[in-house]
Amino acid sequence: MPLKICLTHDVDRIRKTFQYFTHDVRNLKLGKLRTLFNGERPYWQLERLMELEESYGVRSTFFFLHETLPFKPFSPANWKLSLGRYSLLEPEVKRIIRKLDAGGWEIGVHGSFNSYKNIKLLIDEKSILEDVLGKKVTGIRQHYLNLNIPETWILQREAGFEYDASYGKKRGIGYRNNRYIPFTDETSGMYVIPLALMECYLFSEAKNDPEKAWSLTKSLMDEAEQNNAVFTVLWHQRMFNEEEFTGYAEVYRRIIAEGKQREANFVRCGDIYDEALPKTRTLAR
Ligand SMILES: [Zn+2]
Repeated sequence: MPLKICLTHDVDRIRKTFQYFTHDVRNLKLGKLRTLFNGERPYWQLERLMELEESYGVRSTFFFLHETLPFKPFSPANWKLSLGRYSLLEPEVKRIIRKLDAGGWEIGVHGSFNSYKNIKLLIDEKSILEDVLGKKVTGIRQHYLNLNIPETWILQREAGFEYDASYGKKRGIGYRNNRYIPFTDETSGMYVIPLALMECYLFSEAKNDPEKAWSLTKSLMDEAEQNNAVFTVLWHQRMFNEEEFTGYAEVYRRIIAEGKQREANFVRCGDIYDEALPKTRTLAR
């Protein structure tokens, strides 16, 4: 069976804000501060990503976040959850979501930080995104891969989601508990698509050496192929900002190029779900 590759992106934030102060200043990357003032948008990157995938004739799944956690100015640990966030109701966010959808990309919910234990948030976020899209959303991935098993899956099902793509290692790369194949969780009935590789853990394991990152990726692709797994990867769109995340975009491109060479099938999460839709299970769709 040919390798299956599932490309995904979590859109956590589209603006660079507090990172200028917690990241660049700490590391004395003062040159980067210029983008704070000159109108460049280092974290947007969405069109660039579309062009790259279009050039290989592949499509991916984007999970969009609608975070509503209140901002706590005296608690810096909370900054990255609440600052620099966007709303699904901003005109340019609506525009890009519709453009992606019209171009064949899949759009899912990136469940906000507390939504894994809060059905109201799950329902609200799904319905806001559906209003923007004008159609039903089937999939979700939780922010930070927050997951109580099986409680989160039960809530997601109740909220009307049909698959979850949050099952992955919270740190590190590779398949959690060697679950290679998407599965239906028995207790909740949720269909689960395991995550194999997230770019930030990859680069931390590779000590930021892009060549090392690529060789780790290739061995994971081999492992996936040997186990008939779906090779699901997560690249946050802001990490296509080359200046700050050097080499990340190139490893992503090489995954696609290598997949093409291996004659892999490129599937969106929703395609995996549709294909697996058990003939035994009927869903109100
Ligand atoms: Zn996230």
